[in-house]
Amino acid sequence: MPKKPVALREIRINPIVPSESVVIATARSLRPRKTEDPAPRDTRKHVDTCPFCTGNEDQTPPSIASIPDKENWKIRIVENLYPVLDDDMDQPGFNMGLQQAIFGYGRHEVIIDNNNHGIAIHEMTEEHLTMLFEAYRERMQQLYDTDARIKYVLVFKNFGPAAGGSIPHTHSQIIAMPVVPENVHNEVQNSKQYYDKHHSCIFCSLIDEALTFEATIYDRESGEVRRKINVGQYVIEKGEHFIAIKPFASRFEWEVHILPLRHESDFMTVDPEKLADFARILKNTMARLEAVIGGAQYNYFLHCLPHGDTYNDCHASYHWHMEICPRTSIPSGFELGSGFYVNIINPEDAAEKLRSVNLEDL
Ligand SMILES: [Zn+2]
Ligand SMILES: [Zn+2]
Ligand SMILES: [Zn+2]
Repeated sequence: MPKKPVALREIRINPIVPSESVVIATARSLRPRKTEDPAPRDTRKHVDTCPFCTGNEDQTPPSIASIPDKENWKIRIVENLYPVLDDDMDQPGFNMGLQQAIFGYGRHEVIIDNNNHGIAIHEMTEEHLTMLFEAYRERMQQLYDTDARIKYVLVFKNFGPAAGGSIPHTHSQIIAMPVVPENVHNEVQNSKQYYDKHHSCIFCSLIDEALTFEATIYDRESGEVRRKINVGQYVIEKGEHFIAIKPFASRFEWEVHILPLRHESDFMTVDPEKLADFARILKNTMARLEAVIGGAQYNYFLHCLPHGDTYNDCHASYHWHMEICPRTSIPSGFELGSGFYVNIINPEDAAEKLRSVNLEDL
């Protein structure tokens, strides 16, 4: 009889932000659980009624940038019709007993990633993706430069209804906000503390570990192997300048992070030549995710060192990265009530599956 796989049940501590820890409970995958079905893909190149398609430019709010130009745009940046934060008025916040509020000042813009309506990230060319990242970077820089009230600029993408994507035409978003988000602040603070203690960047250490570390843990009594970590076990893709890693404490079943191999705190300062390698690693990672889960609905976002004097001494300790979070299950009361994430697939197995996809066969 085949041996029944041993269920993994453990709480894994996120080394950077311990409060984002994860319950890995693989036995749950054997039981029915509300999971997100892959969304049917809209692969049409052009849709007459889509406000983001070529020819319908007058249906979007004013254009902020067209790349390479207005007539032949491949990427467009426009204002968001329903902004989460806006700069159309400016009021002070208030502080009344326990009621505190900061005025919702900021900017919310949409980046139409491609003039092709239904193209997925892994189907875009490396040249196009490089151009897209260049567009992200330029707009982020402009937002920081033109408005001192902006404390953080977040670039993210929602793809598929389960990830909050409401318009099927491929697009990303930029939100410039008057505060630094708590999760970014925690990453920055905690990595600074680690740096002060160990004189090294925790993200660089994680990369080193992923590339060089191996270990075996034996049971003290029986001498049996309890856990084995192999070299490269968490590495999904490695390029000349970037690496895609499956986090040990992955909050989402198919979560993958992409980081520059050599230390760098801010996406703003990446050498343009290196962006092509970033494009390649993201494209390959998305192709692997597509091959394994099919019709992936996901969010991705960039985490960079916030600008401003408060963070000036964190350049050596913070390391920018992209987090890709595919949405395959719906959070339950346990997640909301406890703050733990529940992941029902062993991250080591997920990494193995993603790595074993042969990109040549796709
Ligand atoms: Zn469209
Ligand atoms: Zn680093
Ligand atoms: Zn992060």
